[in-house]
Amino acid sequence: MTVNPNAFEMAQQQFDHVAEMLNLDPQVREMLRWPMREYHFRIPVHMDDGTIRVFEGFRVQHNDARGPNKGGIRFHPAETIDTVRALAMWMTWKCAVADIPLGGGKGGVVIDPATLSVTEKEKLCRGFIQRIWKDIGPRNDVPAPDVGTNPQMMGWMMDEYSKLSGQFTPGVITGKPLGGGGSLGRTEATGFGVVYTIREALKHLKMDPARCTAAIQGFGNVSQYAAIGFIEQLKGKVVCVSYWDRDDRIGYTVSKTDGVDPNFLKTITDQYGSIDKAKAKAAGYVIEDANAWITKEVDILIPAALEGQINAETVRQINPRVKLIAEGANGPTTPEADEEIKKRGIFIIPDFLCNAGGVTVSYFEGVQNDMNFYWTKDEVLEKLDTKMTQAFHAVLEMSEKENVYMRDAAYMVAIDKVVKAMQLRGWL
Ligand code: GLU
Repeated sequence: MTVNPNAFEMAQQQFDHVAEMLNLDPQVREMLRWPMREYHFRIPVHMDDGTIRVFEGFRVQHNDARGPNKGGIRFHPAETIDTVRALAMWMTWKCAVADIPLGGGKGGVVIDPATLSVTEKEKLCRGFIQRIWKDIGPRNDVPAPDVGTNPQMMGWMMDEYSKLSGQFTPGVITGKPLGGGGSLGRTEATGFGVVYTIREALKHLKMDPARCTAAIQGFGNVSQYAAIGFIEQLKGKVVCVSYWDRDDRIGYTVSKTDGVDPNFLKTITDQYGSIDKAKAKAAGYVIEDANAWITKEVDILIPAALEGQINAETVRQINPRVKLIAEGANGPTTPEADEEIKKRGIFIIPDFLCNAGGVTVSYFEGVQNDMNFYWTKDEVLEKLDTKMTQAFHAVLEMSEKENVYMRDAAYMVAIDKVVKAMQLRGWL
């Protein structure tokens, strides 16, 4: 059983811990440990069967000292105001660590998108924008995709905003489809960003990536491209991925000791990340229980699903061989598990550093929208690599200088930048 702590309490605990280490002014702490603004709304949708269903939606703007609030919208059945608050706060730190001029925000709708028809999904996306459009915008708050949302949905949202505001406004949202204001490389961005930070971490740890094995949790957008990048760019081996099976209402780990082929697995995975078990088995994969990924005898663990997955309970199952944890997901590790990981001396690339590739290319997308001029995929990925590499080394340097855990170092770098921006603007 996975213990899911309250994500917002977890985000506040992580922040408080570093605020204490930094001896941060209590008034500044008070400003940063809560979001600046929260919207909570209801979205009525005319369903295909003629009924009206009312959905619950949120948009949280944590801090915009460094620039417009930025962050995805999740469609998830277990969404709560607290998960959205936590994710918004983590976005503030993420944009600061990645050194992009944006603040932190997040949105959510309580829904399993797989239960909606395409028409219902489109109506829900448009309904979300109808509720919030006056309080978002390219210079104010810029949403993007996250768990349960995709480029097509961003396209509908951008269209609805443009209609309501009376002006074509691609910069209101990122992660849009190609040809509809999207950026090349955005789909790969988060997963490839994870891989660039792993590459730098392995250099630091003096480990040869070609001799490294990894176990990945999840098989959504982040995990798919983390797996592809790890294998194709670093020549490493991925022994398993995991996914949530909607039919069985349970998770599974899909393993192959001589290495999984993510490009093949993608062909048997539906748009919500559910893998066809029968086809996987027929191709020689072994289907194991949901938590098997964390027990694997590998060098690297890549949790790239949801928050709270490495917790007081599951952390004990980590194999002694593991040297590195690269957090593709937001908030996958609880503070209790952090203590254990620290004790065991496992090197960690913390979430808001490791998975900053997505928002970094979102930023590039916004820049391209503003210029109305679009870069090639190579240009985008090269710029992404530069940003991720710089961010990784800034955090590593802080960790070595202050002799602190990588997560604490990432918080130190981020808090420092946000507080400076608040000072410069005269908020403090
Ligand atoms: N949802 C992604 C994240 O958590 C991307 C956010 C964005 O592109 O604004 O970082």
